[in-house]
Amino acid sequence: MATTNELEDGLKMIEELTANAEQIQEQLLAQILDRNAGTEYLSRFLSGKTDKELFKMKVPVVSYEYIKPYIDRIANGDKSNILLAESVIEFHRSSGTSGGKPKLIPVTAETHNLRALYFTMLASVMKRQFGNVDQQGKRLEFLFAKQEIETPSGLKARSVSTSFYMDQGFRNILSKHYTSPIEAIFCSDPNQSMYCQLLAGLLQRDEVVLVASNFATVVLRAIKFLEDYWKELCSDIRSGQLSGWITDSGCRNAVSPILEPNPRLADSIQNICGCKSWDGIIKKLWPKAKFIGSVTTGVMSQYVDTLKFYSGGLPLVSAFYGGSEAFYGINLEILTEPSHVSYTFLPNMAYFEFLPVNKDKDTLPMSQEDVEPVDFINVKLDQYYELLVTTSAGLYRYKVGDVLRVTGFHNTTPQFQFVERQNVILSIDSDKTSEADLLKAVTEAKTPLDPLGVILVGHTSYADTSSIPGHYVLFWELKAKEGNDRLEVDPRIMEECCYRMEESLNYIYRSYRKQNAIAALELRVVKQGSFVALMDYYVSRGAPVSQYKTPSCLNSKEDVEFLNSEVMGKFFSPKPPM
Ligand code: AMP
Repeated sequence: MATTNELEDGLKMIEELTANAEQIQEQLLAQILDRNAGTEYLSRFLSGKTDKELFKMKVPVVSYEYIKPYIDRIANGDKSNILLAESVIEFHRSSGTSGGKPKLIPVTAETHNLRALYFTMLASVMKRQFGNVDQQGKRLEFLFAKQEIETPSGLKARSVSTSFYMDQGFRNILSKHYTSPIEAIFCSDPNQSMYCQLLAGLLQRDEVVLVASNFATVVLRAIKFLEDYWKELCSDIRSGQLSGWITDSGCRNAVSPILEPNPRLADSIQNICGCKSWDGIIKKLWPKAKFIGSVTTGVMSQYVDTLKFYSGGLPLVSAFYGGSEAFYGINLEILTEPSHVSYTFLPNMAYFEFLPVNKDKDTLPMSQEDVEPVDFINVKLDQYYELLVTTSAGLYRYKVGDVLRVTGFHNTTPQFQFVERQNVILSIDSDKTSEADLLKAVTEAKTPLDPLGVILVGHTSYADTSSIPGHYVLFWELKAKEGNDRLEVDPRIMEECCYRMEESLNYIYRSYRKQNAIAALELRVVKQGSFVALMDYYVSRGAPVSQYKTPSCLNSKEDVEFLNSEVMGKFFSPKPPM
């Protein structure tokens, strides 16, 4: 156990914040309004006044599209107090992969201060469990910076993770305690970057104390990459020569000095990677690793089984909840199973409000009264809410687009389970299948594959309305645990999966399906590696690797065509659900 001041300070801060949630939230809102009531945006609603009641009554609940014209003016160089009085120092560019286009979110010096506070608290929670990992060895974190763009005003727009990797404090820690060289993290070619990060991680394999990435997709991308490149990586380690296709000079300069001929190391990696089954490969390759750190909640929950297969029993730690707009919460019980993870909100990060959401599809919608946003401390246990934030950087009653469920309280502060993205929905008729409904149905649908030793590596979907009646299409990538590339599953089992999927969808879907207003659900099995290829496809169009989230539902014709070109087999539900 670490007993440093830093650890105690971080934990103390969490206790103080969570014990005084109401007061801190009130102070924060008052401060934001004091500073910004005179801005063009807020004065439209508040005429310069700063009281909370007026704020709640007059300032509208908005989504990005509403404030986009204001943000565009800032990005185009308008220096007047449009959304906020403080100077904007950069923009965060959201990933745009969890439904929607990338957004620009204003960032101020205060945003960076809050980020530093957030990471101090997060680090203290990790230290409480694992001790000071930096004294125990090195972190193998797969990190990918995304090239920034410059707005006409000269302000840079970069992903929230890239902004973090640019921070000098982080760079100092990185060079001492991480296996990945900064040059590889900033390499513009994701493949060269991944190769060098894996190589550096393998060269220092006996020192690695954790394996991590922001989101689970990236750890799995690294494992897939290793499957494709382990022989070449071993050959580089054996000869001490870096492969010729690594042409990025930063990568070459950073990796070459640590690459010396090491046949013994190459042999041991070769023995591990040459096994037929990759069960537990992470623990075998990095025997001192204590845990795998990456978000495994929300849409990432679909990767839990695959990660567990590779992990060799290492705990999966999903500690962080935040985004381009702000940081929201920390998982205080970091060893909790992914399906039970809750994030304790931090009341100093933003002013939070919660819009009640009716998740019970079989009951009537809520009355207008019920859909008024509620304050932080007035949320009710087990109720679902959409998250709204008011930040010190110019967002007011802004819909983040995430749906959360209250699972408990830490001191006076609510804890939330991440449920789903609000806007991801499959629909043919009046049926509405949310991201969480879909994930639940997929989990049930894949059960016939479990006894066969087959894992579902990735899935996505779309509503095909090209024929009448329309139907749901699921894309599935499957993998045999024994690492057999040519996987053939009995078509009757795949049809059983389709049927189970339909059985698990909600009442409205099932009744439309029975009336043949929705045609039989279709499952398209895609080739191995298709979901990594889909990620690459998004990355080639601008999505940052570090923040990539597999879309639960495809919204563009191009994306559907992309996966259609990978399809190996199509299966349909043989009969309507009961
Ligand atoms: P971005 O702004 O591109 O970084 O994306 C932020 C979004 O990622 C959030 O609004 C969530 O939808 C998702 N996200 C972040 N952290 C988590 C988490 N711990 N669990 C589930 N989803 C998350």
